[in-house]
Amino acid sequence: MHTPTLLFLAGLLMGIMAAVFQAVWRFNRDIPGLKAWTLAYAFGFLGCVGFLLRPQTPGPVSVLLAQGGILLMAYQCMQGCRAYAGRPLARLRSFWPLMAAWLLLALYFTVVQPDLRVRLVMASVGPGLFFLLSARAIWPHDGRVHPARRLTAWVCGGHGVFLLLRPLLFHAGSTHIEVVSSVVMIESIVVLNILGFCILMLVNEHVNLALRRQAETDSLTGVFNHRAFLTLLGKAMSVEARVDRRLPLLLVDLDHFKRVNDTWGHQVGDEVLRHFVTVTQACLRSGDVLGRLGGEEFAIFLPLASQAEACRVAERLRAQVAAQPCQTARGSVALSVSIGVALCEPNERPEAALGRADRAMYQAKGEGRNRVQIWGAVTSASV
Ligand code: GH3
Ligand code: MG
Ligand code: MG
Repeated sequence: MHTPTLLFLAGLLMGIMAAVFQAVWRFNRDIPGLKAWTLAYAFGFLGCVGFLLRPQTPGPVSVLLAQGGILLMAYQCMQGCRAYAGRPLARLRSFWPLMAAWLLLALYFTVVQPDLRVRLVMASVGPGLFFLLSARAIWPHDGRVHPARRLTAWVCGGHGVFLLLRPLLFHAGSTHIEVVSSVVMIESIVVLNILGFCILMLVNEHVNLALRRQAETDSLTGVFNHRAFLTLLGKAMSVEARVDRRLPLLLVDLDHFKRVNDTWGHQVGDEVLRHFVTVTQACLRSGDVLGRLGGEEFAIFLPLASQAEACRVAERLRAQVAAQPCQTARGSVALSVSIGVALCEPNERPEAALGRADRAMYQAKGEGRNRVQIWGAVTSASV
């Protein structure tokens, strides 16, 4: 195939992709990585222009544009992947001198000692390494939650390996250089288009996850809301039932919270709720799940814990809340909680288990508050 035609096609596609990403980025500024990916395709477009400008013997301008364009494209692709994955960006300060040296070397092998093969190796190795680093940066821990990240990593990694092997391909096919050039160009066009679609999938994945998080989270305290907590509780109950265990459940209610609002105002009340969540999270293990059922009522389930462990956690939580008043701008607000503990029975509905924990919690209230009451226990573990 006619290489300049393919180059023109590649440039056109890169330009269109850059314009599309720019438009998406304008309306979604908070999507990490999108700015870098827009720049990546803009640099890719410049790289193609550089290659297209090239007459029979390439001049310094076309070499600088071509080499610089594709190297910066791969670099920005890596930066986009790092930003999307929440990793710190590679520091520009350490990159620019390397980039300048790289371009000077490309100029040397254009003007002083023209050598197409060295330039080809340079145009393959630098971008190839950046694409491999892109794959590493965006590879997800859990591919089921982030399928678009996994696909992007495969595309970047595959392209990186192809680029690194490209000089060997030219070497092996030196007698059919036109064919090899076409294969290389077609690979770039196909991969960079697929990568473009991957980026749009990443945007979609990010928006979906953000919406899901919003739908599951209590906006005041940042913990799971009632609906999400019930869903997670149902799932955890069936997991524990399968291994013949009973999941411990805690229902926690702040004592006399209405008085806090009445005395200090609603804003301080909100602050107290957030403070309670901070104290509670410090008492829990990473697998324990905390949710706000509504108002000043919270629930916690403790996977793989026994009843005795659950009671210890409840007692520690009660003591910690009582020991750590909430420090607000209007003064120190003392707190206490009443906690009901129940074990989830196999095959019951989550609401039924919550109902028992709730009744235990009301028993604790009835016995004077600032207590832990275990459902079914004759006496309460109290202060
Ligand atoms: P008890 O010890 O019996 O639980 O008494 P209480 O005052 O804690 O319980 P009650 O149900 O009488 O009052 C709960 C209060 O919680 C009433 C409501 O105004 C307040 N509340 C509910 N949601 C919020 C919220 O999001 N922020 C604030 N500041 N207050 C809230
Ligand atoms: Mg209360
Ligand atoms: Mg209440």
